[in-house]
Amino acid sequence: MKLLLIYTGGTIGMVQSEEGDLHPFDFDQLLKLVPEVARLDAQIETWQPWEPMDSSDMQPEHWALLAKGMDARRKDYDGFVVLHGTDTMAYTASALSFMLLNFGKPVVFTGSQLPVGVLRSDARENLITALELAMATDAAGAPMLQEVAIYFEYQLLRANRAYKRSSQNFNAFESPNYPPLAEAGVSLHIKQDTLWRPTGTYQVHPVWKASVGVLILVPGLSQKMAEAICLNTGCDVVVLHTFGSGNAPNWEWLPELIDAGQQRGISFLNASQCRLGGVRQPAYAASRMLRYAGVLSAGDMTLEAVVTKSMWLLGQGKVGKAFETAFAQNLAGERSL
Ligand code: ASP
Repeated sequence: MKLLLIYTGGTIGMVQSEEGDLHPFDFDQLLKLVPEVARLDAQIETWQPWEPMDSSDMQPEHWALLAKGMDARRKDYDGFVVLHGTDTMAYTASALSFMLLNFGKPVVFTGSQLPVGVLRSDARENLITALELAMATDAAGAPMLQEVAIYFEYQLLRANRAYKRSSQNFNAFESPNYPPLAEAGVSLHIKQDTLWRPTGTYQVHPVWKASVGVLILVPGLSQKMAEAICLNTGCDVVVLHTFGSGNAPNWEWLPELIDAGQQRGISFLNASQCRLGGVRQPAYAASRMLRYAGVLSAGDMTLEAVVTKSMWLLGQGKVGKAFETAFAQNLAGERSL
């Protein structure tokens, strides 16, 4: 059993300077602080693709570099564990679930809320269990996990279903619309019936186009502000971040704006600000207008999955109808509505 441990940065590998600031340290130190890793029945090799960074600095270019690097190493390893800052982990992990579609091997992201060098750190448990989950095989020796996931605080979540819910609790991630893939208690309980399986042959797609705008609807939003985000900014896709089950105010300029955008070839998506439940068009009259205006429901997808899937599809040259047809499909277990 051979695993690749990838260190991209984040709190998990940070130490405190004399001034009290947190700075990344190097990978060797990380393994010295968690010597238990050496007791796992696996050969663990490491890869540090760049100087460790705060995950706020992670850009689509980094997602693509990770995807390419993992693709190049896919045959050499049974599983991959990615150490990543928690702030944008859900974006990177979602993006990888698309770029590495049908990868067929475990890819487990993890990080921590406290640096590994701190006494009460959650880093050790997260790291060791993430490695153990990546090592899990069935009776026939096949990997139990064949998808991209996030392990945090005793739960393994599908990457493109998870988001960071807390900046303070150890229980930092949540998957509101899909059950955990595994739970770590006295034993590791991997829930077979929740797991995603490849639906086709694997081929890496490390592409993106970041021309995706997000318009957060708030009471009092002006036409001018909405137009500034949606029109003349080079967006190919605009995500309307709506209320409740996908509702929008009855502003008369909103359908006009959508129409003007569509005439320029922009696709509009409806994603709810409610993390739990998602969009159900048209549950209320307030969402009927969006449906009639040809706004596509993002169902119960997380905003992170909506954005990364959109960027990824645009990166493949899909715009307009081709984009919308592909977006509506469940490609990597990211949606059930
Ligand atoms: N700011 C850090 C990051 O996302 C927070 C963390 O790792 O938890 O890189």
